[in-house]
Amino acid sequence: MPARSKNVVVLAHCHLNVMTKVRGLADYAGVRTEVVIPFIEAGTGILQLPCPEATYAGMRRWGETREQYDVRAYRRHCRRLLEPVVDAVSELVSDGCRIERVIGVEGSPSCGVHLTCAGYTGGELPDHCPTSPAEMVPGRGVFMEEFEALLSEAGLDIPFEGIAERVDDAPAQRKDE
Ligand code: SF4
Repeated sequence: MPARSKNVVVLAHCHLNVMTKVRGLADYAGVRTEVVIPFIEAGTGILQLPCPEATYAGMRRWGETREQYDVRAYRRHCRRLLEPVVDAVSELVSDGCRIERVIGVEGSPSCGVHLTCAGYTGGELPDHCPTSPAEMVPGRGVFMEEFEALLSEAGLDIPFEGIAERVDDAPAQRKDE
């Protein structure tokens, strides 16, 4: 029986399941293979985060901005989803595992690590809105912000990395310093 590597990575849900993304944003069929396969080949365990938006607003949701998700009810939802994850991470660390990093999705209002989106703050959409008012701005998404805070409360210091939303934008990948 092969020895356990004791290495684990924590992935945003849609890196392993594109089906939870807002409609129109998917550019891979199921699993983001160029992200996931290297971990499989290296013998790294993969802990999949829940998708906070799909479990909150479902699959008929619009693409929204960080301001729209930055409300107490959504933060509470994120914390409820994340508490058992932090428990699992804590147990793994106590068992000698190294949590390599958390990998989010740049530009997401929830899972952004270095980039999130802003710009739409509410009100009726114009009748003929030709383009989204959202723009990319520096900062964490709401879910990753809550995750980092919960990890910190548990005494866990794990690096975060963001991977571009679109496969073609992969060079936008960045790690925390
Ligand atoms: S980026 Fe986060 S919130 Fe958006 S689909 Fe992926 S896991 Fe869900």
